[in-house]
Amino acid sequence: MKTIHDLDVKGKKVLVRVDFNVPLDKNYNITDDTRMQKALPTINNLLVRGASVILASHLGRPQKDKNEDGSIKVEKYSLKHLVEHLAEVTDAEIKFANDCVGGETELKAERLKPGEILLLENTRFHEGESKGDLELAIQLSRLADLYVNDAFGTAHRAHASTATVANYFESDHKALGLLMYSEIESADKLLKSPKRPVIAIVGGAKVSDKIKLLEKLVAVVDHVCIGGGMAYTFIKSNGGSVGNSICENDYMDLAQEILKKAKDLGTEIHLPIDNLIADDFANDANTKVVPSSEIPDNWEGLDIGPKTIEKFSEVIMKAQSILWNGPMGVFEMETFDKGTYGVAKTVAKATKNGAFSLIGGGDSVAAINKAGLADSVSFVSTGGGAMLEYLEGKTLPGIKAITG
Ligand code: AMP
Repeated sequence: MKTIHDLDVKGKKVLVRVDFNVPLDKNYNITDDTRMQKALPTINNLLVRGASVILASHLGRPQKDKNEDGSIKVEKYSLKHLVEHLAEVTDAEIKFANDCVGGETELKAERLKPGEILLLENTRFHEGESKGDLELAIQLSRLADLYVNDAFGTAHRAHASTATVANYFESDHKALGLLMYSEIESADKLLKSPKRPVIAIVGGAKVSDKIKLLEKLVAVVDHVCIGGGMAYTFIKSNGGSVGNSICENDYMDLAQEILKKAKDLGTEIHLPIDNLIADDFANDANTKVVPSSEIPDNWEGLDIGPKTIEKFSEVIMKAQSILWNGPMGVFEMETFDKGTYGVAKTVAKATKNGAFSLIGGGDSVAAINKAGLADSVSFVSTGGGAMLEYLEGKTLPGIKAITG
């Protein structure tokens, strides 16, 4: 896989697609700059090697959240709000282009000196961006000599700036950024050449969102621990009573198929043995711990129970490779966060003992950050949907456009 290390960048203009889709408060202050921080290794490497860096990104969903007159140049989604912070974290001279393409922007790109950054306005201010529009891609390609994609978070989208634009650069004029490379490398470490035993911990709200992931994982890993809301569909499909717990009756046959497939392949599936149940979806609800298949009517399971935390922890501690996707309960409420944080702590402990651990997107990333353990695991993915699709075995357009 070609990375920026394979490009001769000295004196060149490099168009870098980054994921600067950062959260802003109502005064346009960045409330979490993780996505910008993660792009810095690529940006700094290019600058140090004498390139001029042109950064393209989207921010928010202006097409869905338009101005009252129907226009999509929405003030709160302007990348100009990021200029000051970008200057602080890169220590470079930042220029800003009010449009990601066009004559004025081309002129600014042309005048850009080595070591300087030109930040382009939101690519999604053009309708053509999410349609993968050829004309927009051609205009973007005119800005630079080389193209780099470092936006793993949007690698599953065939947009103009993430995929189509790459068609207008020769194969030796485009490469993956360092973040993109490390995301792919981490996922491949688990899927293609894992140290065994490999364990996947899968949670979250719905089986329907993760069914493809589970189908893929049972064929690759040695153990799957299923927690969170999705466990109840499996428990009910085995004949258990789940009360009011989140459960997808339409997916019970598929749940049984996965259990059977796992058995045939010798993959062990671990379902919760006890659950913390509540009489209301509220932090101050009445709660009790019951066996997972005996949840009474009018009660719902909102976290895995203490015996399950212990059982999952035993499995995790034996693993050499760990993938975690999705929380074990409604961790946003303190009453129901013990399972998720218990798993987070055990994953950190197993990592300290030498296991490789990938926190593969979604709310498990929020959970590991909230637990303050992001630095105690091997890799925390920046791409929820993109990582899920990559783990499911799909080809991501943003990667394919570079690697062919
Ligand atoms: P996902 O995006 O699929 O990882 O789902 C994350 C969401 O699943 C979080 O907002 C959790 O609150 C929710 N969740 C986890 N366990 C449960 C549960 N037992 N019942 C309802 N929601 C849950």
